[in-house]
Amino acid sequence: MTTSIDINDLKFSYSKKTNTPLVLNIDKLVINSGEKVFLYGPSGHGKSTLLNILAGVLEVETGKVEVLGQNLHAISQGARDHLRGEHIGYIFQIFNLIPYLNIKENIVLPCLINKKRAAGIDFYTQADELIQTLGLSAYAQNKVTDLSIGQQQRVAAARALIGNPQLIIADEPTSSLDEKNTTEFMNLLLSEWEKRKFTLVFVSHDTHLKQYFPRTISLPDINKI
Ligand code: ADP
Repeated sequence: MTTSIDINDLKFSYSKKTNTPLVLNIDKLVINSGEKVFLYGPSGHGKSTLLNILAGVLEVETGKVEVLGQNLHAISQGARDHLRGEHIGYIFQIFNLIPYLNIKENIVLPCLINKKRAAGIDFYTQADELIQTLGLSAYAQNKVTDLSIGQQQRVAAARALIGNPQLIIADEPTSSLDEKNTTEFMNLLLSEWEKRKFTLVFVSHDTHLKQYFPRTISLPDINKI
């Protein structure tokens, strides 16, 4: 069993000044490759901070954070950017779609930006498959601004999934969806997981969603701040 995420003695604060309170203080967290986990935490408990560390956006100075076999502290910011671009799909709370591009153009964007993400796959064909699976075929040529919120979030999921990244990080992806769209979104995301078995770190403050996951990690339990 390989690990996708391996955190040891992580301590993080936003300021280097002494006596600044820690935002994260995590002794140990291991997530195996292909696991789907629900990372629960109420607002202000450091969820976004932890995700930004895992995605290589925030730098860790104390402790060891390994993501997909890379010690993030030991590699350069450029190497972290490559790791994210090539191997990590990120689904945001606010979808961050490009308004002047149509659905398909939005979905293929990560493969155009990162050539290695696209290596060995026909990503335009994969985009068509994702559009179909996610029930968006009728809208493929539409601008994303013409879509409902639920449809926009499915486009954002497809953009994260394109190119088969090994790790998908979902940061409160259902927080602006109603119950029906949330259920639909969860079922679609998890059916994609069944097909590809990427590591899925799904973050939310909404405890109802833990029913979809075999493992829940509670940030208030593991974060000793
Ligand atoms: P969550 O995602 O669980 O709501 P965050 O990771 O956003 O939690 O925030 C955790 C703590 O870190 C909060 O006290 C927040 O005010 C603080 N924080 C978040 N971002 C910054 C930042 N860029 N600079 C300073 N403090 C921050």
